[in-house]
Amino acid sequence: MRWSVTIGRFGGTAVKIHVTFLLFLAWIGFSAWRQQGAAAARDSVLFIVLLFACVVLHEFGHILVARHYGIATPEVTLLPIGGVASMQRMPEDPAQELAIAIAGPLVNFVIAIVLALLLGHIHAGDLARLDDPQLSLLARLAAANLFLAVFNLVPAFPMDGGRVLRALLAMKVGRPRATRIAATIGQAFAFVLGFVGLFGNPLLIFIAIFVYVAAAGEAQMTAVHESARGLSVAQATETRFAALPADARLSDAVETLLAAAQHEFPVVDAFGKPIGLMTRQDILAALKDHDREAAVAGLMRAPVETVRGATPLEAALERVYRQDSSALCVVDADGVLVGLLTRQNVAEMIMIKSMRPDWRFKGVRASSVGAD
Ligand code: ZN
Repeated sequence: MRWSVTIGRFGGTAVKIHVTFLLFLAWIGFSAWRQQGAAAARDSVLFIVLLFACVVLHEFGHILVARHYGIATPEVTLLPIGGVASMQRMPEDPAQELAIAIAGPLVNFVIAIVLALLLGHIHAGDLARLDDPQLSLLARLAAANLFLAVFNLVPAFPMDGGRVLRALLAMKVGRPRATRIAATIGQAFAFVLGFVGLFGNPLLIFIAIFVYVAAAGEAQMTAVHESARGLSVAQATETRFAALPADARLSDAVETLLAAAQHEFPVVDAFGKPIGLMTRQDILAALKDHDREAAVAGLMRAPVETVRGATPLEAALERVYRQDSSALCVVDADGVLVGLLTRQNVAEMIMIKSMRPDWRFKGVRASSVGAD
């Protein structure tokens, strides 16, 4: 994630803090200082830091169980809304997803119990007094962990409870339907939350929007993965495209842009191997500072991301949907460019699949690209 700093690395997972989290801490400290002075400010900041340490432990609950199933997590980022672990993939097996999802809230339950044992007591009423300075730091932390565990088990994406619900449903009705049902429940929950927020805490409206968007995103991403299953990259590849030669000028790029409908233009060497890529935006941006004779080789994005046609489409999806990527160059066994894989191709294929689930994709030139 951009705008974040790495604070440590534990067993292959980098722990990062997003800059908005630091701003959030500063804001907490400043508002406590303005209302109650320096001691209160220190206390509030310490509480938030400890609380987010518990959030990190929660994330490591997920991460460690995922690792047990062979799924790596390269990084976990702390945001003011909580921790975001970037797992490489989610398991297909609902039992595994259930175990990974429930591990996080379990960590908070365990922390709350350990703190309660240390304190010798815990009152349900403490939950409502999280900001009461009369309450000891540990008591507030115990109550907060209890809250985290319960809140995360709310059955709505992106909360863990949403995944628990999806996993349980998937055991009965299969993953695609389970995701749709779980997403609908999550969005209904978001509406209720937003409605409550209208009459009470405006922060709830913010959370409701977040939950709604996350539920929609989860449903969409799952639909994409479901449609891609069993297909190869070659079957979704755009094979009619214009490429720019390595010695092309900016004027050539502009002419190609006008002549073709595509938005991504690969640059190929004399052997037809991709050496760079220019998007429509890149070409338009280059027009501002460069004249028509400027060499495309000096303006293009390089190196290019390549993928073999025989690669399972599902495995390439993550690269296609990554924020900074535009298109993947599909190459044959000799590294020669045979087509482009863009988000637009994938989206079109999904539309076809949603209308005709039984449709068989031929995969143009699949014989030449599928040879690895
Ligand atoms: Zn979690």
